Amino acid sequence: MKFIFVTGGVVSSLGKGTAVSSIGMLLKARGFKVNAVKIDPYLQVDAGTMSPYEHGEVFVTKDGGETDLDIGNYERFIDCELSAENSITTGKIYWSVLNRERHGDYLGKTVQIIPHITDEIKKRLFELSKGFDVTIVEIGGTVGDIEGLPFLEAIRQMKKDAGKDNILYIHLSLLPYLKTSKEIKTKPTQHSVKELRGIGIQPDILLCRTEVPITEQVKDKLSLFCDVEKRAVIQGINVKSIYEIPLIFEKEGLGDIITEKLHLGKKVPDLKNWQDFANRILFPEREITISVIAKYPKLKDAYTSVIQSLIHAGASNNTRVKLNWVDSKELEDKNCNEILNNFRNEKKLSGILVPGGFGKRGIEGKINAIRYARENNIPFLGLCLGLQCAVIEFARNVCNLKDANSTEFDEKTSYPVIDLMPEQKNIKDKGGTMRLGEYPAHLKKGTVVFSLYGRSNISERHRHRYEVNPKYVPVLEDNGLTVSGTSPDGRLVEFIEITNHKFFVATQAHPEFKSRPNHCSPLFEGFIKKSYS
Ligand code: GLN
Repeated sequence: MKFIFVTGGVVSSLGKGTAVSSIGMLLKARGFKVNAVKIDPYLQVDAGTMSPYEHGEVFVTKDGGETDLDIGNYERFIDCELSAENSITTGKIYWSVLNRERHGDYLGKTVQIIPHITDEIKKRLFELSKGFDVTIVEIGGTVGDIEGLPFLEAIRQMKKDAGKDNILYIHLSLLPYLKTSKEIKTKPTQHSVKELRGIGIQPDILLCRTEVPITEQVKDKLSLFCDVEKRAVIQGINVKSIYEIPLIFEKEGLGDIITEKLHLGKKVPDLKNWQDFANRILFPEREITISVIAKYPKLKDAYTSVIQSLIHAGASNNTRVKLNWVDSKELEDKNCNEILNNFRNEKKLSGILVPGGFGKRGIEGKINAIRYARENNIPFLGLCLGLQCAVIEFARNVCNLKDANSTEFDEKTSYPVIDLMPEQKNIKDKGGTMRLGEYPAHLKKGTVVFSLYGRSNISERHRHRYEVNPKYVPVLEDNGLTVSGTSPDGRLVEFIEITNHKFFVATQAHPEFKSRPNHCSPLFEGFIKKSYS
């Protein structure tokens, strides 16, 4: 059982998740079995009830966990499937300790943060490490946050429990660059290491985020003041694509330092496929622009997996995929077609993607954009809410069901083409109660989706409450909409398409959660291919 604990200092958003993912990838490339865990020191049990403004994308695991978006980065870089258990929050830890307290498991004792909360944290981490060579644990937040203290105390104790040769502490910090005096400052990093040592943790490796290359003198200084070997002061320089980061870390010697310090034995990593993938991202043959019609166009974190899936599919097609973020609200007016025509003239409309989402705001704009894609033969990919909007659009404008809608947006619509199924109708609690996680689907032979997946039995991850109302499937199909995939029992619509169109495909699922650098999602792959051809 070997653990790598990654903490962050100075400021948040330094890319700890990408660092953990890159380390995981470098170890996997050496043939090790790697697990990755994200600790979020907030009180929620999971990320499912938070708005994108608070939290960015909610990533969904195979088993239906609603987790932090970093879990998605781990899955993509390490090419693995994680579980809801890989995401630990303060809420989850307290929930189980308090349930045990009510059950009487601690009778006679005072229940305390140390040892009861810390023991629960350690128990979960040891459990998660079973069957793996290395478990990487990211502690969310910044060292010094009150919320993070019980977790830092637990990982401090683990050095005793697991043995010092089996534990590695990596601290990610910022080296600000002062443009006026043209120098890199090390003081904030020194302070954050001091803070960490105050808690009893001495970092073994420093990852330093910097916009300019760091000099030997800076390394010497950090090594001396932070008591970290000079070769273990690693620079994390700003790069064009996050997929370059593992390659840069490898050049800096990080992979070998980690395996040496954890006594894993020296192994040569196989990075060929990754290098090829990164080259296709950095030096593609062509460039296209896809318009993404979104509720939070300024908040890219809310669409992390969609963005990454487009990058993967782009790499697979030797194409740089640029994104034109369109606020769906702005397409609600009459001049929607004019706006989209302009995008088309500016070559920003090689394809239209409508991602998932919740709530009424901007829905009519999404529906307008889908109508434009359908009528102008523009490649269209709809994800979850994107499928629901496509069905509403088709019902209204092709089937002539005038005020067709989803009951999520209009409870009184005469044509509830999207509605809650009986299993969702009586649910009152909002946390963890949607249709979540991986579900199988059956694809119809001869359809676009069948040819993209290359088989009829597939599965994708889900996160939604509403479904296509089965009552309206016959009228939709009679008017030319193909239901190309359903749940195995045929009851729920999983995929739709329009045959007489360049590419018009939508799914009730979220295929973006399963896309990987070197095996991208078939739907994104097909969408990008049609968007440039
Ligand atoms: N709001 C829709 C539903 O709950 C779609 C959800 C989504 O796009 N993830 O069914």
